[in-house]
Amino acid sequence: MYELYALRYAHRDASVRGEHFYGHDPCALDPYPIDYYVWAAIGEHGVVLVDAGFTEETAGRRGNRHYLRSPVDTLAALGVAADGVGHVVLSHLHYDHTGHLRDFPEARIVLQRSELAFWTGPHAHRGDYPHLADPDDIAYLVRENFTGRVRQLDGDHELLPGLSVHHVGGHTPGMQVVRVRTARGDAVVASDAGHFYDNIEADRPYGIVDHLPAMYDAFDRVRALAGSPELVVAGHDPLVLERYPAVPGLEGYAVRIA
Ligand SMILES: [Zn+2]
Repeated sequence: MYELYALRYAHRDASVRGEHFYGHDPCALDPYPIDYYVWAAIGEHGVVLVDAGFTEETAGRRGNRHYLRSPVDTLAALGVAADGVGHVVLSHLHYDHTGHLRDFPEARIVLQRSELAFWTGPHAHRGDYPHLADPDDIAYLVRENFTGRVRQLDGDHELLPGLSVHHVGGHTPGMQVVRVRTARGDAVVASDAGHFYDNIEADRPYGIVDHLPAMYDAFDRVRALAGSPELVVAGHDPLVLERYPAVPGLEGYAVRIA
C-alpha cells in the first residue's frame, strides 16, 4: 500500500483549447488552463517519484508559465528528502517531465527503452521535437546511463510490490503509466496518457500525437488498470485540485489522491 500525492509546481493560464485537442476544434480559442504536476508514491518499500517537472529557470526561458514552487520543496514538506527517493519513473521525456532529475542523484531512473531511443534517434531535430524535449535533460540521461542507474524497460514491469509501470505509447513512443496500490484501490497516474479528464472521459485525443490508435488504446488501458474511475489521475488537469483533498498546509501545491 502506498500513499499517493499529486504535487502541483506550475500552471499556465494563457492557454486555449486549440492547443490541447487533436483535430479541428470549433472552440479552439476558449481558455483552457493547464497545471503541471509530479506525483509521489510513499510506501513501506520506498518512495517513487513519477516524473521530474521543469525548473524555474526553464519556466523563465519558455515564458508564459507561472512557476509556483519546486516539487523538491513540496516533497520535503511531505517529509521526503530528495535522497529518500529510491526511484524516479519517467512517464516520457518531454521537457515538463525531466527538469528536476539532477535533484535526485541517488535515485534509479526508470523509463521505456523506446522513449530514450526516440529522443536520441534520427528525428529529434525535426518539427516541434526540439521544443518538446530539453536537450540538456536528454544528454544528462545519456550520461547517467553509463553509470548503470538508468533502467530501460521493454513494456510492463512491477517495480516494487504494488507498484508497476505499463507501456502505452500514443502520446510519445515510450509513454508509460504507473499503477499504484492504495487503501482506496489501484490508482493510475496517467501522466500524459491523459492530460485532461476530457481526454479520457470524453475519448478526445490530445493534440500532440505519436500514434493515434495507440492513444485510444492508452485511454482504454488506463481505465482498465484503475480500480475505479475516481482513481485515474490526469496529467495536467486543474480539476485534480478539486477532485482530491488538499494536504493541510500545502493547499494549491499538493493533494492526496489516496
Ligand atoms: Zn506533460
